[in-house]
Amino acid sequence: MELVATRNKGAEDILPPDTYVWQNTERFMARIAESYGFDEIRFPTFEKTELFVRSVGETTDVVQKEMWTVKGRESTYTLRPEGTAGAIRAVIQNGLLNEAMPRKIYYQISAFRHENVQKGRLWEFHQFGAELVGAAAPQADAQMISMANDILSGLGIGTELHINSVGCRECRRKYYEVLREFLLPVKDKLCDTCRSRFDKNPMRILDCKSEVCRELTANAPVITDHLCEDCAKHFAQVGELLDEAGIVYKVDPKIVRGLDYYSRTVFEFISSDIGAQGTVCGGGRYDGLIEEMGGPATPALGFAMGMERLILALKAKGGTDAKAKGCDLYILAADSERTGNSALKTAASVAAALRKSGKTAEYDLCSRSFKAQMKYANKINAAKLLVIGESELETGECVIKDMVSHEQRQCRLDGEEILRTI
Ligand code: ATP
Ligand code: MG
Repeated sequence: MELVATRNKGAEDILPPDTYVWQNTERFMARIAESYGFDEIRFPTFEKTELFVRSVGETTDVVQKEMWTVKGRESTYTLRPEGTAGAIRAVIQNGLLNEAMPRKIYYQISAFRHENVQKGRLWEFHQFGAELVGAAAPQADAQMISMANDILSGLGIGTELHINSVGCRECRRKYYEVLREFLLPVKDKLCDTCRSRFDKNPMRILDCKSEVCRELTANAPVITDHLCEDCAKHFAQVGELLDEAGIVYKVDPKIVRGLDYYSRTVFEFISSDIGAQGTVCGGGRYDGLIEEMGGPATPALGFAMGMERLILALKAKGGTDAKAKGCDLYILAADSERTGNSALKTAASVAAALRKSGKTAEYDLCSRSFKAQMKYANKINAAKLLVIGESELETGECVIKDMVSHEQRQCRLDGEEILRTI
């Protein structure tokens, strides 16, 4: 028979002890976000396809090539390829825009993109994302970058921060003309996708991963030389605020971000420890998106971190020694003709008392002999051992043995007392 227990390519199982690395990382990120005043939100894994087409943008790789789309009975749905569209949809729909502004939210989600599977590039992956809604000032941009920086440096991941400004619609309209003029003579040499971007969104050609396109655009004019006065001032202020905060960055006019709805500040944190897929965090301002989605015109910005790439970076620097908590007490107990079923019942009540205080306690679930139970306790590295046999049940006294030092301590066979003794 064909083996059905086979994982699909592009998807990963996360197993212990790695799950503990993930948990610790996710908790750390949540704690930092909360210290900046962000609250967690959760939203569905799928939305109407139209939401992503409108918000992520028709000219993006995500919409053109990478969406997982399924036909439902009433509509066509897409598994979220990123978090901003769904998060902002939820913010608009649930009236969060009527709350005190700015509103800060974060999320930890799975996301789906149908792309070439490689190290750090999966079909199903995970993101930590944050969105700051209702603030246009450069302080908001600096704060978002500073939060991402705190998370990455707090995790001990070395990255380079690249920032750019993609201006407003007006700056881009003028810049596109200059850029098209530069690209026109080489238009036919561009890849198919980029040729189709020439009219609608030529800036995205700078973001193309093909070697040919990269070479052809190496000396292209840059948007930062074509910003309007307001956008130039905003960008300069963001830079000053980052300088003040001691955050090192590089202005990189090639950072245009993959998504259509960005305006002004865009940024990426890049790690050099994890190979070609080095961008661990990408973000930026998207002042036009909320209005585009049918809400009131509201400035906003956000970022998303790729969890798989972060964990790869953590592993590359050896920072992943998280372990499972392990068993604090294994209770050796077996029912017999003499004890009836009181030995395992007592084991269960002792274990329950320990668990209430956050200790891990286990006892036999497989009707095993004492010898086999002992073997199991060793295998799971139980820290302490308690035997509940006939005499313990008779006298109400028991002995707790340390599995490493072999030290023994006597106490009453009572949950509270055992908790104090271990
Ligand atoms: P890339 O240029 O690497 O394709 P992107 O611009 O498409 O990235 P974003 O949409 O900005 O990526 O997503 C934010 C982050 O999510 C990325 O920086 C990356 O860490 C992670 N990410 C994106 N796509 C994938 C994927 N297919 N598999 C794993 N992680 C991903
Ligand atoms: Mg991509």
